[in-house]
Amino acid sequence: MSEWPPLPPDAGPNFGHDGVDPRIAGGRLTVDLDALVENYRLLQRRAAPARAAGVVKADAYGLGAARVGKALWNAGCRTFFVALPQEGIELRAALPEAEIYILNGTFGPEAAPAFAAHRLMPVIGSQADISCWEAFGWNEGETPRPCAIHVDTGMNRLGLTPDEAQAFAADNALTGALTPRLIMSHLACGDEAEHPLNRRQLESFQAVRAAFQGIESSLSNSAGIFLGPEFHFNVVRPGIALYGGQPCNGADNPMQAVATLEARVVQVRRGRSGDTASYGAHGRLDRDSVIAVVSTGYADGYHRASSFAGVPLRRASPAGGYGFVHGWRVPVLGRVTMDLTLFDVTDLGPDGVAIGDWIELFGRNIPVDEAATAAGTISYEMLTSLGRRYHRRYVGGDG
Ligand SMILES: *Cc1c(COP(=O)(O)O)cnc(C)c1O
Repeated sequence: MSEWPPLPPDAGPNFGHDGVDPRIAGGRLTVDLDALVENYRLLQRRAAPARAAGVVKADAYGLGAARVGKALWNAGCRTFFVALPQEGIELRAALPEAEIYILNGTFGPEAAPAFAAHRLMPVIGSQADISCWEAFGWNEGETPRPCAIHVDTGMNRLGLTPDEAQAFAADNALTGALTPRLIMSHLACGDEAEHPLNRRQLESFQAVRAAFQGIESSLSNSAGIFLGPEFHFNVVRPGIALYGGQPCNGADNPMQAVATLEARVVQVRRGRSGDTASYGAHGRLDRDSVIAVVSTGYADGYHRASSFAGVPLRRASPAGGYGFVHGWRVPVLGRVTMDLTLFDVTDLGPDGVAIGDWIELFGRNIPVDEAATAAGTISYEMLTSLGRRYHRRYVGGDG
């Protein structure tokens, strides 16, 4: 019996991340930390003199919150936002000095000790959050209950109403029960520059922040940074743009690709004109074809809705997904299945693609926004649905 050879000595610390050895992985995800840092710097320049925080919720949009967080910290980022306390606890382990806000609120009285133990700050977004955090005991002599205050200006998701925020500011000025460090709101339509709600939210936010003298304020996500300086205030909160997603609809994407997803070719087959391919027999071949079979499917987050044009799963974008291999764009053929996807590689000739080659599903050549559109969704969902079966590796950064 032959032995499974040990990892090569030059493989580095990223080899076999998450326990998936690249030699036997069906797909690989490469995260370019240099591109991430470039994107951070670009956003920081756009927003200056405001400072750019980093939104690293949902495991940094699927790319690994600890690695991404450290790279951003090394680039000068000091403030981070995650959605859940558990995410905050994990990020705290990687970033002992960072300011960490929990966007989704206090999570009730049972959660409060976890916030204190890990120095997490809730983003207070309701009267219940206020009561919960006010009731939480605090050590004499320490700054009491640091937090952010979220004001709803048009999203109707999280946040005090402007009236509630004004009332809270007046009460808290007397009691000093909470120590708000940041007043924030969130844009509903930042990616549509001309949407009238942007200005209404801006004006509503300006009015309410006057009640919170002397603390920093924050309105913009990635898209808001591109709406102009009025939207920047003191802190901007980019997420998707850090990861290379397009911040604004209908404009060129100034961000660099950070994530590249590639799938391993496990077979190259011939199909005859008139044959069909994959489930449901919808992928009908209109010529003798060469089919590359890759070991990645919807269980990996390569959405079933990316199936071949003509497969009726998707309304918005009739064209299906494309891969990229050896300089060519190659269409998905037939339905994407759980563990396997077919690509029509006929245009590359009979020997154009070989077993063991990798087909890019998104990355430098197929923008993640294009792959997402082909699946009837957005880059955010494409990235956060990445599965657990990839080999994940990091390049760039400080190693
Ligand atoms: C997710 C989120 C962000 C980041 O949004 P992007 O569009 O990814 O830049 C900023 N602020 C809040 C409140 C969020 O929930």
